[in-house]
Amino acid sequence: MILITGAAGYIGSHCAIHFLEKGNELVIFDNLENGHIETINELKKIGKVSFIKGDLRNKEEINNVFKTFKIEAVIHFAGYIQVEESVKDPSKYYRNNIIGTLNLLDSMVENGVKKIVFSSTCAIYGEPKYTPLDENHPKNPLNPYGRTKLMIENILDDYDRAYGIKSIKLRYFNVAGADSRLRIGEWHEPETHLIPNIIKSVFEKDRVFKIYGTDYDTFDGTCIRDYVNVEDMAKAHLRAYLYLKEKSESNIFNIGTAKGNSVKEVFEMVEHVTGKEIKVEMNPRRAGDAAILYADTKKAKNELGWQGEKDLETSIKTAYLWEKSKH
Ligand code: UDP
Repeated sequence: MILITGAAGYIGSHCAIHFLEKGNELVIFDNLENGHIETINELKKIGKVSFIKGDLRNKEEINNVFKTFKIEAVIHFAGYIQVEESVKDPSKYYRNNIIGTLNLLDSMVENGVKKIVFSSTCAIYGEPKYTPLDENHPKNPLNPYGRTKLMIENILDDYDRAYGIKSIKLRYFNVAGADSRLRIGEWHEPETHLIPNIIKSVFEKDRVFKIYGTDYDTFDGTCIRDYVNVEDMAKAHLRAYLYLKEKSESNIFNIGTAKGNSVKEVFEMVEHVTGKEIKVEMNPRRAGDAAILYADTKKAKNELGWQGEKDLETSIKTAYLWEKSKH
């Protein structure tokens, strides 16, 4: 069985669907603080899922999972993800992301489980020195959230050297879209991400979408990001798991599309896809946003055998249809 932590959340749940549809049995461990029980219930309709409500900060709770089920590998999503909150309350981030992961890893060591796929982020690179960003780009995260992810990458390498735990770190760029059958989608409260924020303005009458920063050194003044489809992202995790099974060695991959789109371009594409005129307001820059982030994806393509297939328009369409299904 495969253990997925944080599978009630956005990327974790899409990954769970993909693993289930490929015939894998799952144990899901999630504290439901930011994830949703409705998502777990959808997953249970698709395949064999054992759900354990628990918190990684409690070592006994996670260790019991390994004692109860025969776990072969772990896909580790659970963690806090909000940059701004991490600046205001770093303790919360270090305690949950770092200590939670240590409890998970120590339980793996104790129970002889040697494979883990970890959700890392392009936020570990910090302000780009060059683009596209390859895996060797210097790492200088700009906030505690990014620092927890970089620390965990280093911890994983130490646990490989000392205890033989093999890990794949997937450094996510911006993830977008929903399940193409609309069983699940992006569901954050509060929502801070670009695409769902634009789409919500279609459905909520008084909501005005805000562009953060129009004076960046880019072709239209707004930030450029690399938007990878969430179903493609799910496939990258299955590839990473198979890589661990086949090669039994640790590695790191950027997961993006190698294409950048500006905030204005994304906004215009949402208007195009929805056929609606959306209220928009120009605002000052948001703290900590780099002007341009997009991935060099050659390594993922050549060594992991993974490449994003779905374009931004597809991600926007599914994100829109998912949001619509909730209204
Ligand atoms: N952004 C924006 N308005 C919003 C949310 C995001 O203009 O309501 C911009 C943000 O400044 C960034 C880009 O959209 O340049 C992507 O932001 P998001 O929070 O989706 O992802 P991030 O790149 O921060 O991980």
